[in-house]
Amino acid sequence: MAVIIYAESDNNTYKKSSLEAITYGKDLANKLGTSTIAISMGTVGPQNLGTYGADVHIHCTDNSLSSFNPQTFANTISTLANNNSGDVFVISQTYNGKSIAPLLAVKQDAALVTGIVDIAETEGAFTVKKTAFSSKAIAHVELTANKKVLSIIPNSYKIEENGTEVSTTEQQVGSASANTTIVSTHKETGKIPLTEAELVVSAGRGLKGAENWHMVEDLANALGAATACSKPVSDMEWRPHSEHVGQTGITIKPNLYIAAGISGAIQHLAGVGSSKVICVINTDPEAPFFKAADYGIVGDAFEVLPRLLKRVKEVKGI
Ligand SMILES: Cc1cc2nc3c(=O)[nH]c(=O)nc-3n(C[C@H](O)[C@H](O)[C@H](O)COP(=O)(O)OP(=O)(O)OC[C@H]3O[C@@H](n4cnc5c(N)ncnc54)[C@H](O)[C@@H]3O)c2cc1C
Repeated sequence: MAVIIYAESDNNTYKKSSLEAITYGKDLANKLGTSTIAISMGTVGPQNLGTYGADVHIHCTDNSLSSFNPQTFANTISTLANNNSGDVFVISQTYNGKSIAPLLAVKQDAALVTGIVDIAETEGAFTVKKTAFSSKAIAHVELTANKKVLSIIPNSYKIEENGTEVSTTEQQVGSASANTTIVSTHKETGKIPLTEAELVVSAGRGLKGAENWHMVEDLANALGAATACSKPVSDMEWRPHSEHVGQTGITIKPNLYIAAGISGAIQHLAGVGSSKVICVINTDPEAPFFKAADYGIVGDAFEVLPRLLKRVKEVKGI
């Protein structure tokens, strides 16, 4: 028995969410009295995965893994799990992780739970806590299958760096066949993926039009934040749908969510309500979003956002 963790990398570095997954996997392995195997593909990041809790690190070097294809990646993880007696899988719920986890669960005939926000209980029944009803509730789910795939929401688990370094074993797995081929990919550069962002600056219809979004982008750039928006904003094509958060959009859990000119409808809160700190800027003191806010600024976004930007630049010396 071993806990297998998929270590996703981007731009030659392991994603923070993967390091969270490795710490999660280590804590789970300790509870189960077993060890952890981190599996990476594509590029090797500079971080030593042992530091974060991997007992073994296998890097797969097959040519078919040089670009992302969920089938080949799931097949590879599955083959390595079979070769190494892996039966619990920990995957961060990133864009890529979301597509690998169900394929892997089918391959392994495993139970799959997504949206996990805390370490599994292993005394007696194996149960996990996951978000439910658009993050308005927490469900405790028991996994009864022998094999389990756990998909962890980024920013839910704290990284620990108290492990010991491990050497990386390179392997050609040779099982990476797929019945779909990714013909081409267009990668956004210089943007922080919304699902993994620790800081998010978001805006709604109160910003009046696409031409005013430079205020949101400037503040986000100064903070090192991702940008997001409400549904009507993406419906009106002021912003791309990839930025739409909420019940019908993306669910995020950043450390700080700044919302300007967003009313705070329940469907919007469904995607952002789990943010650690919420700061709301709205001209209407009765806007529902203030009820969910940790900090509220009753004011015009056209005045507040430039003032926030000025202050952030002063503090950061940029
Ligand atoms: C089935 C369903 C699913 C939905 N899913 C989603 C979803 O996933 N995500 C989502 O966001 N919505 C979703 N909606 C829509 C949701 O109900 C709201 O209509 C939407 O969130 C409102 O967007 P908004 O806050 O940008 O706009 P508005 O409701 O128009 O609010 C604009 C806010 O800006 C404030 N404002 C105006 N001018 C300024 C200014 N100068 N400075 C500061 N504040 C200002 C106003 O006081 C107001 O509170 C869904 C609706 C349905 C029915």
